[in-house]
Amino acid sequence: DTVLAIETSCDETAVAVVKNRQVLSSIVASQISIHQQYGGVVPEVASRKHLETINLAIAQALDEANLDWSGIDGIAATCAPGLVGALLVGLTAAKTLAIVHQKPFIGVHHLEGHIYASYLSDPELKPPFLCLLVSGGHTSLIYVKDCGEYQTLGETRDDAAGEAFDKVARLLNLSYPGGPIIDKLAQQGNPLAFPLPEGNISLPGGGYHPYDSSFSGLKTAVLRLVQKLQQDSSQPLPVNDIAASFQASVARSLTKRAIACALDYGLNTIAIGGGVAANSELRKQLQQAAIKHNLQVLFPPLKFCTDNAAMIGCAAAEHLNRGHTSPLTLGTQSRLALANIMEIYKH
Ligand code: ATP
Ligand code: FE
Ligand code: MG
Repeated sequence: DTVLAIETSCDETAVAVVKNRQVLSSIVASQISIHQQYGGVVPEVASRKHLETINLAIAQALDEANLDWSGIDGIAATCAPGLVGALLVGLTAAKTLAIVHQKPFIGVHHLEGHIYASYLSDPELKPPFLCLLVSGGHTSLIYVKDCGEYQTLGETRDDAAGEAFDKVARLLNLSYPGGPIIDKLAQQGNPLAFPLPEGNISLPGGGYHPYDSSFSGLKTAVLRLVQKLQQDSSQPLPVNDIAASFQASVARSLTKRAIACALDYGLNTIAIGGGVAANSELRKQLQQAAIKHNLQVLFPPLKFCTDNAAMIGCAAAEHLNRGHTSPLTLGTQSRLALANIMEIYKH
């Protein structure tokens, strides 16, 4: 099926036309430059910008796909999780178009979208596989059983991996978003310069949780390190070494958990999703560990890893193929566990 999909869960206004696993067009209007001056996403500003941009993005997506409405089988939008005011803009646009053009309407869970990014770059991929989703809001290990059937095996107990990059960048006086900047500075730094914690979650009986992670302790450790270095010396901060040490620690933590999870559950493919999948050190460590354990790691291209509507359309097309559609009364939700995803398709 061919689906027009809208994604407005955070700070990108994105519209795409997708024919099953094939992207016919993908428009992403980023608001990053607007939010940069505040050091993070301002929800009210995000909603207003979505409203200003959405109609043009829809027209562009159809135009670039060389289709008119007669070529569209369904209209989809992200409905959860995310900023409710931002989600509402895309969801309302999709429902309105579905009514006007008399097409089925399909709500999509944002994280299922991130999982489906791997099907765009590897159309032959088949479940079961493990998805390591590392984004601005999530750090999850997800057992992908089938379309709509997911089990979250590991999560962060506090900050998400991307959030940790953004917060550490902030305390190093770097700009937003921090991930790409830290990645770049780390290339010139020594990852062994400073020992930093890996964010293990201790278990009552000893040892640590094999799949859950924590990044707020790591962030605090970087803060303490910065304070100590500033106290001890009037030299400029060794920002490159701090960036490299921090990044190596995050990559070690994620790699260790993803590999353990894949081996324990007998899954031989790990698909990566979310903006942090762009990280060069994470890619390197995962690739090395995967070779060692005879596992396959899939890294979708960056344009599918960060927020986009093509991944939403890909998930929507598969639901539509299976006869799953959503009622026009579907609302937005700031949180919705992946385990409850089929609520979206209940009439
Ligand atoms: P969610 O899907 O959980 O709601 P999100 O969609 O906003 O979050 P993404 O757009 O997938 O998150 O990813 C953004 C995050 O990725 C930011 O925190 C950013 O710092 C991080 N990031 C981007 N590039 C890199 C990189 N090279 N290294 C590390 N982190 C990166
Ligand atoms: Fe996202
Ligand atoms: Mg984003």
